[in-house]
Amino acid sequence: MKCKICDHTVTPIHSFGQMPIANAFLTEDQFSNEYFFELAVGFCEHCKTFQLLYLPDDRQLFHDHYSFQTSGSQVMTKHFEAMAQSYCEHWLKQKANPFIVEIGSNDGSMLCHIAARNIRHLGIEPSANVAEIAMNRGVQTEVTLFNSTNAQAIANQYGKADLISVANVHFGNMNDVALGIKYLLKQDGVFVFEDPYLGNVITQIAYDQIYDEHRYLFSFNSIKFIFKQVGMELFHIETYPTYGGSIRYFIGFKGQHPIEQSALQFEAKENNELKLNHLETYLNFAKQCEQHKAHTIRLLGDLKAQHKRIVGYGAPAKSTTVLNYCGIGTETIDCIYDSAPLKQGRFSPGKHVSVRAFDNNWAKEADYALLFIWNYAQAIFEKEHQFKQAGKHWIMLVPEIKVL
Ligand code: ZN
Repeated sequence: MKCKICDHTVTPIHSFGQMPIANAFLTEDQFSNEYFFELAVGFCEHCKTFQLLYLPDDRQLFHDHYSFQTSGSQVMTKHFEAMAQSYCEHWLKQKANPFIVEIGSNDGSMLCHIAARNIRHLGIEPSANVAEIAMNRGVQTEVTLFNSTNAQAIANQYGKADLISVANVHFGNMNDVALGIKYLLKQDGVFVFEDPYLGNVITQIAYDQIYDEHRYLFSFNSIKFIFKQVGMELFHIETYPTYGGSIRYFIGFKGQHPIEQSALQFEAKENNELKLNHLETYLNFAKQCEQHKAHTIRLLGDLKAQHKRIVGYGAPAKSTTVLNYCGIGTETIDCIYDSAPLKQGRFSPGKHVSVRAFDNNWAKEADYALLFIWNYAQAIFEKEHQFKQAGKHWIMLVPEIKVL
């Protein structure tokens, strides 16, 4: 298998088996036509990129029913408001009439705070339905995919950007994206790339972060390699708790920004402590995934043997990988509760567990709630404190398997 970044050979690490599209929550009449592909990961020892070995058909992604909407999550809403503020205070303040571009601007959760400050901006978003929500919030948006061709057209039409921001966007061709950034960014501009960190996936055995949209899980080393190809370098790092641990990478044209301690220290830690540049780290991760799966099946099987009622709490894309890899379906989980209207009344991909809206009775139906949105655990435990008080339990699979 060829590496999608550097063309060297990728070493296969692990297969999670046949997998549906993680966000393709479906209706009953769609069960018979459901699309599956093999979800498997590999590691390229040359460019250090951890990647999916096989990609699903592009047409299966980014459809109009795209069910993820940033503002559906209060945590992410606050995160993006703080991101906009940080950009204005640290990176745009010194600029005359700055121009900021966000790639994958979704419903405008970040850019609406830029628009509110009357700062020149442009969102680039391929999903028409969420882009429309952004435009209704006053966020200027182009409904298109980002690639190097579109980047040149946008630079011609709007001028080059002082700051380009990308958060949790899942690109197919990263080399072409890097080229697009090179075309669209001013010489002294800053490209900010935020994504869940591979190091956290490996140390927490958070294999549920692996699904179709996450074609790559990035590390410092892989980001460094990709952008070095277009004359850019990483000069600063910030860490955030979102998505179970994300990194905000700051990248500029070579020599334009002093390399900060944050970047030097992060790189050293990744190489010396986490050893993300070594194949052995990933082979060990594969073994841990299998052990994690066996442990999960045993735990849920024991509870069902005691006739306990288990429901799912939250139906993120991540839950699709867990349910399908572990073979957990309606024999184990009665239903999954989720606050996103686009998922409610539908069924989970692959295992077809029904997704319901939270109501006042949701907790009455359950003895145990399997917390698929473990990355929001603290906020949920506070919000749902009565669940524990009623003698019921949470099941967590990440960062470790435990019953609370
Ligand atoms: Zn490679």
